[in-house]
Amino acid sequence: MDPHCFLEKRFWSHVTKTPDGCWLWNGAKDRHGYGKFLTNSPLAHRIAYLLVKGEIPNGLELLHGCDNPPCINPDHLSPGTHKENLAEAGKKGRMGPKTRKLSQSDVDRIRQRYLAGDLAPRIAADYRIHSRHVTRLVRGDRWSRGYQPPKDFDRIALSRQPHFGENHPHHRFTEGQVREMRAKYRAGNSSLVLIAQEFNTDPTSVRRIVKGTAWSHLKVGC
Ligand SMILES: [Zn+2]
Repeated sequence: MDPHCFLEKRFWSHVTKTPDGCWLWNGAKDRHGYGKFLTNSPLAHRIAYLLVKGEIPNGLELLHGCDNPPCINPDHLSPGTHKENLAEAGKKGRMGPKTRKLSQSDVDRIRQRYLAGDLAPRIAADYRIHSRHVTRLVRGDRWSRGYQPPKDFDRIALSRQPHFGENHPHHRFTEGQVREMRAKYRAGNSSLVLIAQEFNTDPTSVRRIVKGTAWSHLKVGC
């Protein structure tokens, strides 16, 4: 067996899922309660995030939305600064994500990602803003100086609605989503049906993606 696959399988074998959606690390933990995998590896929740979601932006910590340090469910983790992590811990129980002030480069990146096919709610979650704010930025309602909005914005926005006029369901996924589907399937935590529900598609499309029939240019892992 490929050593990488072996390690990955061993990694996921340390997870106990709870009814509230947390994936608790049942292996070794550090003094703060975070999961530890190998002696010199990153903490378990960071590994889980890397495997499922991809790179963690430079220098950022992963904030536990569930306030549960041993949890490694990537859906409960979002990148943030150390300061944000402390602030978050200080206001446990407060509802709703904190709105962040955006910089010009954030705005550029948000527009780029949306126009490249990423979905507004996913971009919004990364920047902790409302998804409506994402579409406003792309349409040019905000931060409009020096920005040329796409002429066919309405058509683009419409095509992003789940199930809208889509003949090839797998074409509407981003590379990151394809990786995420495959990782979830490999981890054995989700069935084709559950993954299909989560990504607003049908199990047949998910099967084609996880088996590599669709998106075959993106190598299927373990
Ligand atoms: Zn959790």
